[in-house]
Amino acid sequence: MSDCIFCKIAAGEIPAKTVYEDEEIVAFPDIQPQRPVHILVVPRRHIVSLAEAGPDDQGVLGRMLGVAGRIAAEQGSPDGFRVIINTGPIGGQEVMHLHMHIVGGPEPVGPMLKRN
Ligand code: 5GP
Ligand code: ZN
Repeated sequence: MSDCIFCKIAAGEIPAKTVYEDEEIVAFPDIQPQRPVHILVVPRRHIVSLAEAGPDDQGVLGRMLGVAGRIAAEQGSPDGFRVIINTGPIGGQEVMHLHMHIVGGPEPVGPMLKRN
């Protein structure tokens, strides 16, 4: 998609400090990190969200999960991490190109959800 920020990063049209890439996915640091380690993993192909993903996307989704441990360890979170895929308006998704957050660092990331 021509006006999609993550499509542009995946295509190299906007520079990003890529920490992993292969023919299907690209990973780079979040511009506003919420933890010492905060990496985004995106498919090169424009998929709007996990809600829109289908059988044809199972390969790339598996690939995203399959490299998470390696990326986390290489980026400074070898003892564990959290992956998050915010999905749609209920899930708090802001960028409408499917992406997986990897968050971690030397300290535990804390409770999954904070209730008010
Ligand atoms: P969401 O709420 O959609 O799951 O998260 C989108 C994430 O993308 C946010 O954490 C935000 O900081 C990050 N982000 C938005 N624009 C850019 C950008 O241009 N470059 C990078 N590296 N991250 C971005
Ligand atoms: Zn896109």
